[in-house]
Amino acid sequence: MTTRIAIVGAAGRMGRALIEACSEHPDTKLTVALEAPQHSFIGMDSGELVSIGKNKVLIGDDIEAVLDDFDLLIDFTMPAVTMQHIAMCQKAGKSMVIGTTGLDETQVQQLHDASHDMPIVFAPNMSVGVNLCFKLLDIAARVLNDDVDIEIIEAHHRHKIDAPSGTALRMGEVIANALGRDLKDCAVYGREGQTGARDRQTIGFETIRAGDIVGEHTVMFADIGERIEITHKASSRTTFAKGAIRAAVWLQAQPSSQGVFDMQDVLSLR
Ligand code: NAD
Repeated sequence: MTTRIAIVGAAGRMGRALIEACSEHPDTKLTVALEAPQHSFIGMDSGELVSIGKNKVLIGDDIEAVLDDFDLLIDFTMPAVTMQHIAMCQKAGKSMVIGTTGLDETQVQQLHDASHDMPIVFAPNMSVGVNLCFKLLDIAARVLNDDVDIEIIEAHHRHKIDAPSGTALRMGEVIANALGRDLKDCAVYGREGQTGARDRQTIGFETIRAGDIVGEHTVMFADIGERIEITHKASSRTTFAKGAIRAAVWLQAQPSSQGVFDMQDVLSLR
């Protein structure tokens, strides 16, 4: 079965990687490419935009006009835009794969509410490697328990607008859940000045923003005498795009027509 895909934010960094990944998968077909109203690439052939050659899918800006032309919408844009698309897809009964990060608590709750009417894969990081890391972090936290200091260090390109990254926060949640802690109570974001000695119960976050770094995450479990580090480095956005397309194909094959899933579900890592 071929899944007809719509990509919003088609001219963005992830949008372009998604157009390529969609064209390479045997079970997906790009049928809709959308951008922000007045974007300078409206009307352009989306295949030419990414140099895969003309695909006759012109970049548009009116999702309501093309609701019949796709089965599943992939959204890597920004929170307010994603929320608009959730509302439209909920009304139209369309599935969604959402990679946008930086949604606040209310927006995440609205996403979950909408999923009573539509299936959604929502993951801050769609890379297969990162999602394997989540599993490894869960195991490491359970074995090392309260004996270690845990620090999460992440680095991204200078254009990224949210911090810490959604992936770093998810890593923190996985570890906090494994240790029976609430991330809200134990997270420490950056340190400066007279901080006092480290509290072992905290999970520290450090953020680097520089140049064109695609995405790097290291979680450090440090005891006296030894230290374990689990690191993931993404060198290209292709990894996120391929994961998103894999999620789209998986979601279309699910019998359920509602609910929020993540990459642990897609990759059968639960
Ligand atoms: P980007 O700024 O390059 O692209 C976003 C695109 O959305 C832009 O082209 C913009 O014009 C477009 N857009 C804005 N308003 C729109 C609207 N109303 N309709 C349609 N399109 C609209 O950003 P990016 O680097 O591609 O990242 C996008 C999001 O994806 C961010 O939240 C980022 O953190 C996230 N991201 C997630 C993953 C993951 O694996 N989940 C990986 C990389 C990036």
